[in-house]
Amino acid sequence: MVLIFADQADGQIKKSTFEALSYGSKLAAQLGTTAEAVVLGAVDNASLEALGNYGVSKVHHDANAAFNQFDAQVYTKAIAAFATQAGAKVIVFSSNTSGKAVAPRLSANLKAGLVSGAIALPDTSNGFVVKKNVFSAKAYANVQLLTDVKIIALSPNAFGIHATGGTAAVAAVSLPADGGKIKVTAVEKVTGTVPLGEAELVVSGGRGLKGPENWGLVEDLAKAMGASTACSRPVADAHWRPHHEHVGQTGGAIAPNLYVAIGISGAIQHLAGVNRSKTIVVINKDPEAPFFKAADYGIVGDAFEVVPKLTEAVKKLKG
Ligand code: FAD
Repeated sequence: MVLIFADQADGQIKKSTFEALSYGSKLAAQLGTTAEAVVLGAVDNASLEALGNYGVSKVHHDANAAFNQFDAQVYTKAIAAFATQAGAKVIVFSSNTSGKAVAPRLSANLKAGLVSGAIALPDTSNGFVVKKNVFSAKAYANVQLLTDVKIIALSPNAFGIHATGGTAAVAAVSLPADGGKIKVTAVEKVTGTVPLGEAELVVSGGRGLKGPENWGLVEDLAKAMGASTACSRPVADAHWRPHHEHVGQTGGAIAPNLYVAIGISGAIQHLAGVNRSKTIVVINKDPEAPFFKAADYGIVGDAFEVVPKLTEAVKKLKG
């Protein structure tokens, strides 16, 4: 069986989960086995059944309130117990924040080989070889998993969501809800916008915006588009924006459908986090800015003139 961890936040299944389910169910078909999901914490039954739309036949649900809040240790112990009891041979996560926290712990717990940042289905013609991003997605590696139980953490937006129109059977399970001595705890929760790793539209600002007092430009455009906001590293380092918005080699790696970069030079360390975006639009007053080389569309102009016009145009388009 291929087991997919279906991640929830505040009772809502995360979008990255739909992709992990699509990936896991395609993998199960490839291996000639079933795809099933495990969900921890309160989620309504209709949402659980709807996971069948992404290819899983069965959803195992533990509604214990102790799982409502994500905790890597608690989740690891519960998923390890379930995977062992269910005889899962491959366990799939999204390589999002929670997946990145649980998958390595589970790998140690189950002594299972792990590939994180996977970008394609494994080649099972000769062993079990998974393609993954390396060097900030500048290259890829093929990694062979040799253990009996295998864990894959899928790079967000690498595989896509594939709806099948199915519904899943839901089974209640009771798993250990105590992760032992808690060593790590969340101190701040970011709310309000779509998490950057899952965002389809991102508007990002750099030092070209001169100061935090000008961020209304970025926010207005993002709001008009329904996009999340991001920034370059110096912007976060200068505390113009919170660090969770910083993208790049040392920040978040994102892969939205559209990335709009305003007043960002396009340094290689910035590109490392955004070069998997499907379409890149660059707004910069310097025609020689390196970002234009990576852009699908470029606007050479002063952000303070261009962006308000763009925002108005988007608002008009949306009616
Ligand atoms: P700048 O380089 O100062 O560029 C500002 C741009 O704005 C310029 O191109 C300018 O032409 C343009 N501009 C100015 N005024 C206007 C205007 N009115 N209208 C339009 N355009 C205007 N950086 C990251 O972003 N993410 C990382 O993860 C990261 N990791 C790093 C890791 C290491 C080890 C190192 C050494 C560096 C890292 N950096 C990272 C920093 C990176 O090298 C660059 O310094 C940084 O990305 C530059 O940020 P910026 O483009 O916002 O600022």
